[in-house]
Parts: sequence; structure tokens; C-alpha cells
Amino acid sequence: MADAPKSTPIRPGAALGLLGGGQLGRMFTLAARNLGFRVHALDPGHDCPAGQVADLEIRAAYNDVYAAKALARGVDVVTVEFENIPAETLAAVAGLRPMHPAASVLHTVQHRLREKSFLAEHGFPVTPFRSIDSLTDLQAAAAELGLPAVLKTASFGYDGKGQQKLTSPADLAPASAALGAQQGILEAWVPFELECSVICARSEAGESCVWPVAENAHRNHILDTTVFPARIPAAVATRAQAMALEIAAALGVVGMLTVEFFLKPGGELLVNELAPRPHNSGHATIDACVTSQFEQQVRAVCGLPLGDTALLRPAAMANLLGDLWPVTGEPPWERILAHRDVKLHLYGKLEARPGRKMGHLTALADTPEAALAKVLAAREALKD
Ligand code: AMP
Repeated sequence: MADAPKSTPIRPGAALGLLGGGQLGRMFTLAARNLGFRVHALDPGHDCPAGQVADLEIRAAYNDVYAAKALARGVDVVTVEFENIPAETLAAVAGLRPMHPAASVLHTVQHRLREKSFLAEHGFPVTPFRSIDSLTDLQAAAAELGLPAVLKTASFGYDGKGQQKLTSPADLAPASAALGAQQGILEAWVPFELECSVICARSEAGESCVWPVAENAHRNHILDTTVFPARIPAAVATRAQAMALEIAAALGVVGMLTVEFFLKPGGELLVNELAPRPHNSGHATIDACVTSQFEQQVRAVCGLPLGDTALLRPAAMANLLGDLWPVTGEPPWERILAHRDVKLHLYGKLEARPGRKMGHLTALADTPEAALAKVLAAREALKD
């Protein structure tokens, strides 16, 4: 196989390929188009959020290698908006065009056991974990790690999907039955004080940058609000940022990396999860930073200089889930728009379902608390 062509620099006017067409892809596409790039997006869904704003929408399953090759042939570089793309598709694309992040990075982060093992082997702090293939494994692991603990599927888990909290020995057999033939990972429960994340970027030339730490609150395992910057001691924030950059370098990622952390009482940080892409907790960077996470993804995968990550003002983001939608029609958006200093972002999704991320709100203020109060007040205004 011929070497994939050298990727850098790819200049405005070129076409960028995107595997995945959800809201992250939509915001990437909008940023790319602002910079004068064209975007071709591949997604299995019809009228997907990224496809609505892209130059070309290819509707195909992620395991459709021929469609992925057609996407690659029409563009100068390919990137992804989510990590669970099948290995054969990634290999086919990487054989034709530069692809960032690389298939090897996606391979590591697609699987919780591989990801946690990678982190532990490189000396990054993670909660103790065990591989689970049977009830016997689970019983032994629960005895070693103690309860409570969290059983997760090793693959295809996000937003708490495929997760079960085990609090008593009686929970083990039903949890193992629910896992079925899937490989699992048991994690020791982390009594965290708060959850935070750090988003960073790396270019092929080794240039890197990092945003301030984001403070995240979840509801039903789904991100609910982010406060930017996190209300944590400066020394802890500096450590989290440094660790994120070290992980990005160890992974050799080109593009974006999000590192989710648990902060324990006393200041200890544990890495929870990695995502080699922009992240829901970074949406406030669109309105609050000199360079958004999406513009940075464009710059990084194109081998262009990275933009300034400075935060212009404290900010907060609140997700808008499908639960807020009426049975028919759209929510009364004018009630949000009446909050004149709150920015409304909608993803163009045609069907609202409970728990589905449909959009988000961002506000800037003099303090993170005031910004949070603004987005929450605006979101409350949607409810009767
Ligand atoms: P994940 O999909 O692994 O990011 O987990 C979703 C959410 O579940 C996290 O953001 C935490 O709020 C919670 N969670 C996951 N793993 C643990 C753990 N080992 N200890 C405590 N809470 C957890």
C-alpha cells in the first residue's frame, strides 16, 4: 500500500472529510466553513446535524467501507466526531488520506479496558479496575475492589449507557446476567468531590494547547451543566491541564483530546475517560474563548497553527435535552431568546427523545456562578 499523502498544511479551500454527523460534527463543520473549507460528512442518519450544514452528506453505515473510501477520495484529510468507528473503516480511510486522530488512537479509546490499561501503564492515576468475563470474575473483582463499584461494558458505552452501580453482593448475579456475553470492566467506586474535564489540542508538528478546566455536573449520567473555568484551586487546575497534555503526547494524538477527571476531596485527580475529539464540556469555548474547540480541531487536523485558547470571560453551558420538547412542535424559543445575553445553539435534530442532546445554552458573566445562574434561568423559562 502506498504511503498516505503528507497532510500538512491543508489550506482553506480544501475539503475536509468527517466520519459522524451529529452535533459535534455540525459545530466542526460550521467552524470549518467559517475558515473557508468545504466539508463532506458521512453518517448513517438522514438529514443529520452535520449534513444540514455540510457541502456533501453521505448517508451510509459506519461499517460501509466503500462509502468511507468514497468520502476519503473526495477530501484532503479525514477526521471523526466520535470514536466508535469500526477498525476496517478506519483502515480503509487511512490508506487513502491522512486521518486524524489515527486509527491506533481510536483503537485505544474505543474500549474501556484498553483505555484504562494504557493510562495505568503510562503512570496516569485511574480508579482500580478489573476485566470481567463471567460471574466468577465479577465475584472475585468485587471482593478485591469492594462495594460499591461500577460495572461497565468495555465497548460502546457513553452517557452512562451500559453502566450499573453495584452496592450489595445481591447485585452481582443480575448485573452479570445483564452484561451477558459482552466483556465488562468493574471499577472501584470513586467518592468524588466534583467532575471536571480538560480539552487540549495537538498538531502533527507537536504544537499543543490547552483550555481552562471545565467543571461538569451530570444528571442521569448525562452532562447537564458546565462551569468554565472550574471552581477549583489553581494548583489543581494546573495539574489537570498538565496531565491532559501529557496524555495527549503519550497517545500521540493529532487533533483534539478531552480528558475527564474525578476530583477527590483533598485534591487527588483520577482520570475517568478519554475522548479524542471535541467534547460536550467544551461547547462554551464557542462563545467564551478566542478559539473554539471546533475551530481548533480544524486547525489541528489541517496542520495549521493552533489558535489562542484564552477565556474571554467566565462562562456556563446548560444542555437542552429532548425532555424539554412538547409532544408536538418546538419549545417556545422566544422565552429563551428574551434572555438577551444567553446564546441558543440548536442542532437541527428532527426528533426529540428523552435524554437526547438537542442543543445547549451558553452565557458569559463576571463570575462562573453568575453565568450558571443565567443559563439555568433561561432554561427554566422553557418550562411552564
Ligand atoms: P462514564 O461513561 O464512564 O463517563 O460515566 C458516566 C458518569 O457515571 C460519570 O461522569 C460519573 O458521574 C459516573 N461514574 C462513572 N464511573 C464512576 C466511578 N468509578 N465512580 C463513581 N462514579 C462514576
